[in-house]
Formats: sequence, structure tokens, C-alpha cells
Amino acid sequence: MRDIEDNFSTSNVTIDLKHGNRDRYIACCLMDCGQELALLDPGPSSTLDELRRNLDERGASISDIGTVLLTHIHFDHAGVTGTLVEQNPRIRVFVHERGAAHLIDPERLLKSASRVFGSDIEEFWGAFKPVPVRNLSVLNGGEEITIGKRQFEALYTPGHAIHHVSYFEMDSKVAFVGDAAGVRTTDSYVYPATPPPDVDLAQLNESVNLIESRQPQRLFLTHFGLAGNVKWHMTEFRKRLERWSEFVRLSLDHDADDASRAQDFSEMVKAEMSSVVTPEEALWFEHSISSRHNWYGLARYWRRQRELSSGASK
Ligand SMILES: [Zn+2]
Repeated sequence: MRDIEDNFSTSNVTIDLKHGNRDRYIACCLMDCGQELALLDPGPSSTLDELRRNLDERGASISDIGTVLLTHIHFDHAGVTGTLVEQNPRIRVFVHERGAAHLIDPERLLKSASRVFGSDIEEFWGAFKPVPVRNLSVLNGGEEITIGKRQFEALYTPGHAIHHVSYFEMDSKVAFVGDAAGVRTTDSYVYPATPPPDVDLAQLNESVNLIESRQPQRLFLTHFGLAGNVKWHMTEFRKRLERWSEFVRLSLDHDADDASRAQDFSEMVKAEMSSVVTPEEALWFEHSISSRHNWYGLARYWRRQRELSSGASK
């Protein structure tokens, strides 16, 4: 990991936002683009102080940020964007067109998030302030984006979220993939991120194919950071996604309620992981990521598929 980090670090800094005092949960990428600085997935508002501290350490501040690149608008990736723009109205924000409306008016997003996180949402993630429409640069995928001396291609990579994009930098061959290719904190395990409500298996697979078609040498994952061995990563991702989704599909026919089906899934993931990661890493996953959410996301997907096919056969 050391060598790739050295090469990467001449023009990028991986900022560990230390969300909820956890190490290696949310990685924001600070990009030096020559005349200006950019942030990829600046995180939630609750980690703004940590973001500021990291900028400060490098002699920079929010007023030096010219661009924010968002892979998608989930709280852990994008929650602080409106606050940053409030403090520096010159920031332009890149986002997929299907995420833009939620940034302009986060009301609906807040409502659905509070169904998942309950009333702790503000404490956990901080405020999600709106972003004025004039600050937005809306993407569909396929655009070439120039930031200072650097160039990126926007790739439309739905599946984790319908409005998910990735950014591929041709020069460095790094693909900044948000959550499209899962979570990886060790070099032994790739964990697909399949929360409700948007998860779509076919889209997830097509998206990793699209990312791979650019032949990236490295991935930058929001959870967590720079990762090499792209071919291995993608193979593991596909294999595990297939296995998990089959497990969930079959669980829908078991005579049980959703809570216990999700619990069974969670136990399966724990057992699977325990054979390949260290106990400390397994504990990190247990504290950081709810595998039950993954069950609910995949279950929603399969139920929708069943509805569609029963509709079609009528
Ligand atoms: Zn996400």
C-alpha cells in the first residue's frame, strides 16, 4: 500500500474525518489542482471541525476550496456541502442531476433519513443545509471536468444510489468511486454497500463494469481511501454481491419476519468475515456498518423485482 500512497500523495491528501471518533470510517479527498483546491465527498456537517483542522494543518481554509465533487448525496458524503457553500459562495458543486433537487431542497431527504436514524439524525450527521442552485454543476455522466490543471471524466454509476457518479482521472488512473464499489478497510475483504432505498443489482454490476472499462490502477473509496489491486477488488465485489443477494432472495421465502431475516443475514456476514479479517477489523465493521441495512436494501430490490414480474405475467 505504501508505494501507491506515495505517488498519490503528491497531489492528493486522504483526510480521515473521524466521524463519531472512529478511525477510517469516512475518507474525504483533498485535491491540489494547481490554482485551486477541490474536495471530493467532504462528509457530513458533524465532522466540519475535523475537515477544517486538516485544511488548517496544510495552511489552507474553506475559502481556498473552489470545487466540491460529490459522488452522491448521502449524509456521510455530502451533508456539509451547503454549510461550505454558505461560508464560501464561490464553491461550485458537481452532482448528478437526480441528486441536485435534494441538495437544493433537502426536506424529503431529511425525512427519509430520520426514518432510518431516528431523531438522533442531527446529532449524528449535523445539519444538511440547502445548496443554492447557482452553485451547482449538474452531471449526467460522460462529461469531462477540468479543475485547474487536472481533468476528470464523470461516470454515471448508479446501483448504490440512483444518482451516484464516479470520477475517473485519466492522468493518475485513479477512479474516485464513492460507494459504487463497496467498502474496503483491509486488503482481504470487500464489502458491498447495499442500503435502501435505491439498491439495484443490475445497475451495481453495470457500474463496476463501467469503472473497470477505464482500467483504473487504483480506486479511491469513501470507506476507506486509496485501494490498489483493482482487478481483485472488483472480482471480490461481484462475488460477494452475488452471494449476498442470493442469500437475501432466498430468505424472503423463509417463514420469519424481516427483523429476524435481517439478523440471520448479519450473522452470515459476521461468520464470513471472521475467516478472512483480524478480530480488530471485524470489530470495526460491527461498530461502523450495519449489515442489517444491507439486507433491507437487497430485500427491497427483490420485492420490487417480484412485483414487476408478477405485473408482467398478468
Ligand atoms: Zn452512500
